[in-house]
Amino acid sequence: MLSIPLGLPEFKVIKQELLSYGYAIHVEKTETQERCPHCGFSTSSVHDRRTRKVRDLAIFHQPVYLFVKFVKVKRYRCWNCSQVFSASLESIQPNQHYTNRFCEYLYELCEGSTIQEVSRKHRIPYTTLERIYYFIASKKAKERQTAIEASSQEEMVLNRCKKGTSV
Ligand SMILES: [Zn+2]
Repeated sequence: MLSIPLGLPEFKVIKQELLSYGYAIHVEKTETQERCPHCGFSTSSVHDRRTRKVRDLAIFHQPVYLFVKFVKVKRYRCWNCSQVFSASLESIQPNQHYTNRFCEYLYELCEGSTIQEVSRKHRIPYTTLERIYYFIASKKAKERQTAIEASSQEEMVLNRCKKGTSV
């Protein structure tokens, strides 16, 4: 079977299968170490691993399910600075059963249609989809807000400079 590039560099593909319900792609984190966000020190994560089934963007109109091997231990204490931090994935939110890009895709679909319609068509429970939709919507609103704040701050600085020169 042909191998499909996943486009998620944080994972390496262990195994791919085409099953009755879609593609099953078994993946593992490429990086086996967790980096401390406080000091950048790497902590090896050879702990007990669990597999989570996470839905991703369709390939050739077939649903895709990633079987992600992740570390069961969610919290680490850094050996270097002894701060506590949690293990994280770039492309999947903690406890989420959908990849971030799949959530974004669902959001776009809902924007062009209704939550009900998308829920039916893509076989995603209505309440789950609703939760995803509002999560992405509020994230986008926050991003817009930050962008607005940044540009108004720039303007303020600019005005101050102008005033400075006119005096
Ligand atoms: Zn640290």
